[in-house]
Amino acid sequence: MKYIGAHVSIAGGVENAPLNAAAIGAKGFALFTKNQRQWVAPPLNSDAIAAFKRNCADNGYTADMILPHDSYLINLGQPDKEKRAKSVEAFTEELRRCEALGLKYLNFHPGSHLKLVSVDECLALIAESINQALAETESAIAVIENTAGQGSNVGNLFEELAGIIELVKDKNRVGVCIDTCHAFAAGYDLRSEEEYQKTMNEFARLIGFDFLCGMHLNDAKGELGCRLDRHESIGKGKLGLEAFRHIMNDPRIDNIPLTLETPDDTIWSDEIKQLQSMAD
Ligand SMILES: [Zn+2]
Ligand SMILES: [Zn+2]
Repeated sequence: MKYIGAHVSIAGGVENAPLNAAAIGAKGFALFTKNQRQWVAPPLNSDAIAAFKRNCADNGYTADMILPHDSYLINLGQPDKEKRAKSVEAFTEELRRCEALGLKYLNFHPGSHLKLVSVDECLALIAESINQALAETESAIAVIENTAGQGSNVGNLFEELAGIIELVKDKNRVGVCIDTCHAFAAGYDLRSEEEYQKTMNEFARLIGFDFLCGMHLNDAKGELGCRLDRHESIGKGKLGLEAFRHIMNDPRIDNIPLTLETPDDTIWSDEIKQLQSMAD
């Protein structure tokens, strides 16, 4: 089963996310559990938590189908000790919010070295931050997203994601999300059947599909290897429809949330239908 959905709005409260997802025919969804542009948020109240759980259940969504995303402000690889502590605290709080909502995952961008430390040092800092946050929480899985390698972001190479995982103590609470646009921008081709298999076999060899907790389905505005994080609507970018056909027919990608983060939210329901038809 392919849990195809989109990153939906929480305007008016987190409990609206499952309703917004159901309205576009999504089989899964992503959400922020707070305002993603602020460090702190008021705690989730028990009414909102109960309403979120009820709206999920009423619309057939279980935790396996939902991929929460953390705030863009958090940088777990921040070389500055005090600033990193602030990020770890915020990340820990986000894990707690996910757990309170009955959710299983928390998707995040690994971090940036800000040209202050090496890539390897940054990867070690990220793993240390994850270990600290997992020690303070119960169950939520830290899901590392591959990046386009824009600026000083780390995590564009599968080797780098594997390097973080290797240093995380509790392997049951760490996973990976592949963003198709980021992968393509980082130089991983997915267009022809042959290139798709080559990329995914590389993923299997270096990380393993057991760690794959979700995917972001985005076409790419930029060329292969451009290292620019620019999403495009499905089939309208440089990746093209065929790449998504391979994903839709890959049994290794069953039963995890597959989330659109494409720019035109007015066509999400059409994009979901189109992707679903490729899977049938
Ligand atoms: Zn993404
Ligand atoms: Zn992106």
